[in-house]
Amino acid sequence: MRTDDRTGDDAPDLFHYVLKDKIAESAVMGTHVVALCGEVFPVTKSPDPNSPVCQKCKEIYDSLPPGN
Ligand SMILES: [Zn+2]
Repeated sequence: MRTDDRTGDDAPDLFHYVLKDKIAESAVMGTHVVALCGEVFPVTKSPDPNSPVCQKCKEIYDSLPPGN
């Protein structure tokens, strides 16, 4: 079942980091994406780039080894 309604209830107010692999997978599967911080949201509800960056995501992203 597809749900295309946009209530905005679970739309993230923060810009979360999501691994490219996860985005591609979710886009194909039509499922939700999981941000680095564990936040889950529909791939269709990608945060506004102007939104403030999720600090938790940023911390995890910065701790990731380069090139991975
Ligand atoms: Zn986050």
